Amino acid sequence: MPFPTTASEDLFTRARAVTPGGVNSPVRAFNAVGGTPRFIRSARGAWLTDHDGNEYVDLICSWGPMLLGHAHPDVQAAVQEAVARGTSYGAPTEPEVELAEEIVARAPVDRVRFVSSGTEATMSAIRLARGFTGREVVVKFAGCYHGHVDPLLASAGSGLATHAVPGTPGVPASSTDLTIVLPYNDRAAVEKAFAHHGDRIACLITEAAPGNMGVVPPEPGFNAFLAETCSRHGALFVSDEVMTGFRASRTGQWGLDGAVEGWRPDLVTFGKVMGGGFPAAAFGGRADVMARLSPEGPVYQAGTLSGNPVATTAGLATLRLATDDVYTHIGAAAETIKAAAAEALAAAGVPHAVQAAGTMFSVFLAEGPVRDFEDASRTSAAGYAAFFHAMLERHVYLPPSAYEAWFLSSAHDDRAVQTVLDALPDAARAAAAAMEDQ
Ligand SMILES: *Cc1c(COP(=O)(O)O)cnc(C)c1O
Repeated sequence: MPFPTTASEDLFTRARAVTPGGVNSPVRAFNAVGGTPRFIRSARGAWLTDHDGNEYVDLICSWGPMLLGHAHPDVQAAVQEAVARGTSYGAPTEPEVELAEEIVARAPVDRVRFVSSGTEATMSAIRLARGFTGREVVVKFAGCYHGHVDPLLASAGSGLATHAVPGTPGVPASSTDLTIVLPYNDRAAVEKAFAHHGDRIACLITEAAPGNMGVVPPEPGFNAFLAETCSRHGALFVSDEVMTGFRASRTGQWGLDGAVEGWRPDLVTFGKVMGGGFPAAAFGGRADVMARLSPEGPVYQAGTLSGNPVATTAGLATLRLATDDVYTHIGAAAETIKAAAAEALAAAGVPHAVQAAGTMFSVFLAEGPVRDFEDASRTSAAGYAAFFHAMLERHVYLPPSAYEAWFLSSAHDDRAVQTVLDALPDAARAAAAAMEDQ
């Protein structure tokens, strides 16, 4: 069932002439799956419409933010009202206070500071952790993504090297010399790193539940172990909830482990859902740590559009509408799609692992369980490319990369879910055929 893509092809040609790779964030270019990226003209509820007029059920939701679906009427009304009052003043506003109050009420933070992207949030959290502790080393996990922050674009390096190496050209070795990269879910590796370098470690940063290598949930007690290890060594535990915050559950991943087990991270980063589809992110945490931040304390951090009134209005409207019912609905839709995906892949004989963190999930085309980045890397790229295109032809827009979470919204109704279920068996067979050809 081929459908027209000439309008997207034309736009892609024009885009490549003026923008590297034709996109403003690499994964949008479809490099991992091939083909022409669809240029989206509009979206409503669970559906995207491209420039050729094709419609797709959206399983990306802007990579997480659109928890309520696209163009939610109440969010739209709040934003239109905000725009009518002017769009940026460079002075404090009421929506910033209200959004900060909402976040403090839900998440394990005493104070928050707004920024414009998740990258800025993690970058600033690390600067604050270094400023607070007077130490410089940062520990992270392979496969966890924290935005394009120099010291965090690091890979473990070879053999027994302690210090990480730059993960991309343009990052100086001096940035990653102070980074240690460990395998996820590996307590022994964490113990060892802290035993050797504990008095130099400013912080450990981790995705609260990794979603950027596909969804790889923390093993039971792993986050508690990290928090305890950091505290024992005088390092800060930075929980990156940019993806999971107000998404995995009403209270993020922390609501699924920390709130139950009785521990709190020292710093938390947020983004995605809290911006309601606008550029807004935040970092927050313990009052005594946040008090070190300028202008209260000496650690400098600032932003022209930080706490922008339109963005914070959108975020506030979104969080206020993100009730328990929303998470129950998304959780139920996720269960239906997870079960159908596993059944279709099993019937087609494709090795697979369906993994979840709260209402977030992803599908690996590899034998599970997937515990870390090395396991995730075994997913079949060719199989996923075939699966992705078969779904797209059947009007389902999956992430164009095998290493991403699938996102749903409260607008994913029976018709949207049924469109996904109808597409899965053929897509599973397409994946099986591609994997046999290898
Ligand atoms: C998306 C993401 C970021 C980066 O956020 P941007 O707004 O894209 O800069 C950081 N951490 C995690 C866990 C993310 O998923």
